[in-house]
Amino acid sequence: MEVFKFGGASVRDAESVENVAKIVSLNKHKELLIVVSAMGKTTNALEQLTEAYVNGSDDVHVIFEDVKQYHQTILNGLFQESHPIHDEVANAFVEIDWILEDEPHEDFDFNYDQIVSIGELVSSKILSAYLNTTDLQNEWLDARSFIQTDNTYREGQINWDKTCGLINESIPPMLKKRFIVTQGFIGGTSENFTTTLGREGSDYSAAVFASCLGADAVTIWKDVPGILNADPKRFNATRKYNELPYSEALEMAYYGATVIHPKTIKPLQNAGIPLLVRPFLTPEESGTIVTETSVVVDTPSVIVKPGQVLLSLSAKDFSFITEDHLSSIFRTFADLSIKINAIQISALSFSACFDWNSKRFTELSTILDHEFKLKY
Ligand code: ASP
Ligand code: MG
Repeated sequence: MEVFKFGGASVRDAESVENVAKIVSLNKHKELLIVVSAMGKTTNALEQLTEAYVNGSDDVHVIFEDVKQYHQTILNGLFQESHPIHDEVANAFVEIDWILEDEPHEDFDFNYDQIVSIGELVSSKILSAYLNTTDLQNEWLDARSFIQTDNTYREGQINWDKTCGLINESIPPMLKKRFIVTQGFIGGTSENFTTTLGREGSDYSAAVFASCLGADAVTIWKDVPGILNADPKRFNATRKYNELPYSEALEMAYYGATVIHPKTIKPLQNAGIPLLVRPFLTPEESGTIVTETSVVVDTPSVIVKPGQVLLSLSAKDFSFITEDHLSSIFRTFADLSIKINAIQISALSFSACFDWNSKRFTELSTILDHEFKLKY
């Protein structure tokens, strides 16, 4: 069996959903589990909706109306007026109405997950219903009943034993009969609350399903020809990798190449499952294949990380930067969970580059200020 993952851009309008059906129909002979993200920029909109709700802003209704209208336009482009999917989608949105009627929970992240997850539920219902109107018979599954996480809202940690147990108990026999359509990005806790796995986490969901099922491959269908050596939105002369070892793809994703979610690769590597990144607009092309290959990667990858801060430290008494200093500097970064992207050490100074976060930066500089002179 294989896992296909379609991101927001691949289902951003009615025409795109038809294109997904075309890709699935080209692979009709396979046992397929299809993982889909929220449509277009829905997650961003639902994020704004959650903020407006928690802050008590009137914008809530405007944002929500836009989200509903956007999905309605897609529905109108795909289905007859009498199709039951209209009610199903309306019912999913009613879940948000119910939340909005209540006072927000004190944990912002909890509110976030209950609201934002609706984007994936709606998109997967629409895709499933649409495939069923063509001859692509499939079953819609609620990923929250399979992807079991702890209750770290917005960053649910997978309980692998439970998740694989549930997946393997019921999914393989279903796949013998028809395709499965389910959601990326979302999971459920043991108390049946919804969690999310972190932004862009649908790739990771695909990897979790694939790894539990021992899939033959995972394909992520993207709006780029494959994994490129730089972001084509920033650079003109990009080059595509035809083949990459897991370790290279992992480094790229970890350091911010947004083409795949960083957590995706490890489970696939552990299970020896190839990862394909292929273009949804030209599905006959082979894209990039990530495996345990020993191919030598000679095209360097360029990753632009916006929002970086460069901090340089020197000892207040102008002494050399010693291993003792380094150890206390790294301890401080680790305690504040600040991930360093690059460092440079010289005789008199230590410099680090990391993502800007004003709250964390204030905490960091307050502590380091006791021992060091700071420049940033
Ligand atoms: N819809 C979610 C997001 O935009 C998950 C995903 O697309 O992978 O972050
Ligand atoms: Mg996405």
